[in-house]
Amino acid sequence: MRQANLIDGKWVEADSGRTLEVLDPATDARVGSVPVMGAAETRRAVDAAAEAFPAWAARPVEARAATLLDLSARMAAKRAGLAALMTAEQGKPLAEAEAEVDYARSFFEVAADAVHTLEDEHPEVPGKSIRVHRRPVGVAVAITPWNFPLAMLAKKVAPALAVGCTQIVKPAEQTPLSAIAFAEIAVEAGVPAGVLNLLTGAPAPIAETLLEDPRVRKLSFTGSTEVGRLLMRGGATNLLRLSLELGGHAPMLIFEDADIESAVRIAMAAKYRNGGQTCICPNRFLVHASIHDAFVAALAEASAALVSGIGTRPGVALGPMIDDAAIEKVEAHVTDALRRGATVVTGGGRRKVEGAADRFHEPTVLTGCTVEMKCWREETFGPVCPVRAFRDDDEAIALANDSEYGLAAYAITSNPRRIERLGLELRTGVVGINDPGPAVAAVPFGGVRHSGFGREGGRWGLEEYLEIVTVSQADG
Ligand code: NAD
Repeated sequence: MRQANLIDGKWVEADSGRTLEVLDPATDARVGSVPVMGAAETRRAVDAAAEAFPAWAARPVEARAATLLDLSARMAAKRAGLAALMTAEQGKPLAEAEAEVDYARSFFEVAADAVHTLEDEHPEVPGKSIRVHRRPVGVAVAITPWNFPLAMLAKKVAPALAVGCTQIVKPAEQTPLSAIAFAEIAVEAGVPAGVLNLLTGAPAPIAETLLEDPRVRKLSFTGSTEVGRLLMRGGATNLLRLSLELGGHAPMLIFEDADIESAVRIAMAAKYRNGGQTCICPNRFLVHASIHDAFVAALAEASAALVSGIGTRPGVALGPMIDDAAIEKVEAHVTDALRRGATVVTGGGRRKVEGAADRFHEPTVLTGCTVEMKCWREETFGPVCPVRAFRDDDEAIALANDSEYGLAAYAITSNPRRIERLGLELRTGVVGINDPGPAVAAVPFGGVRHSGFGREGGRWGLEEYLEIVTVSQADG
């Protein structure tokens, strides 16, 4: 397993020789260690990306697309190894890690296809001939979180490379090894030296150097709203183009016409993926009063049956929380809810797993949740389902919109007029109707308000890495 960084096509260590240990969150076993890069190495990565840019941008679209497809095929060939590494450093069950490899690959296939649709436009203007064309912004930066180590990277690398940008990626400290394995595959697929560069280590020195450098023209960040704000301030000096995919606090609305069994199936799939550590997992369950008790009973039964454990063990559906701070936050949200009058229907605390670290939380269903509770206001990022009842659509929509976040919302209903209304009135960037997985590579994904801005997926994702040029020629 490679553990070095990639700058200008060479595998390198930190100038200081310093490294960062990567531990398995399920067992605390050492998985590997990666370099801690500083300002000098970061500047060298920008040098390499800036130098590689003109040739990569000038390459025919078909050639860039072919490289992306080759990369995807190589990921498919290494699916098992990539998934095992992801489970080791991130903790998610192996089946979820395998599905993530497939999901990550789909961004390369979509980008390789969508890049062919970016054609020049010729708006009609009397007395002029106009050509509107798009060109790559230049050197792009990707900063990614730990919860989807490969997919979050793929969402950023695929569109950037497809349109001709060069890139510097900085994965999360917890999960850098999946990113290194990915970069190794990119090199094997023929991504030229300098086109993709990878830096690991503490985020601040790397990010500060990147933000200060005027050659960097684009930053795509997925992570917390707090760090997103910091990067937006830092990007102001060079008026950096930004895409910010930030925190979420998704409501799931279950209406009176929902079939309980399928509502629970959808809720379980959306909620417990990655142990509830996803930006779009439902954090607030709003259930019509007429089916509240039946839904809660079925959700609690299904939740209690989930098996927690080390992700490589058969039958495991719930892995560990990523670190101690994460499980402490989940506990704090549950304690706060109970103190303010919520009731635990199932779960409520830590779960012991034989031979594993003390970092597993029981799947938990809480009823009687109110807007003052932390679990109702903040992202819990764990396997907790806070539930409250509503009486009519107006109340449900008002409660759903009562959050500063606006990434995803879900609804279970088959009423067409209501579905139309939800699409218009829910203040989120993504709305899943009877759909636990609305994030697919071919469609735009992203938030509004404090969940950020910018879209990933399809041609919308490519546009984030392009600037528009208008050539206006006077006739005659
Ligand atoms: P985080 O913001 O702490 O870290 C994300 C990345 O930012 C990591 O690479 C980290 O090293 C880096 N970072 C941290 N401090 C930095 C700094 N000062 N300067 C530059 N970079 C810095 O978030 P996290 O805890 O790793 O991830 C969880 C968060 O990500 C949640 O809020 C979740 O909702 C969000 N998320 C959002 C999406 C989305 O698409 N909207 C997807 C996944 C996760």
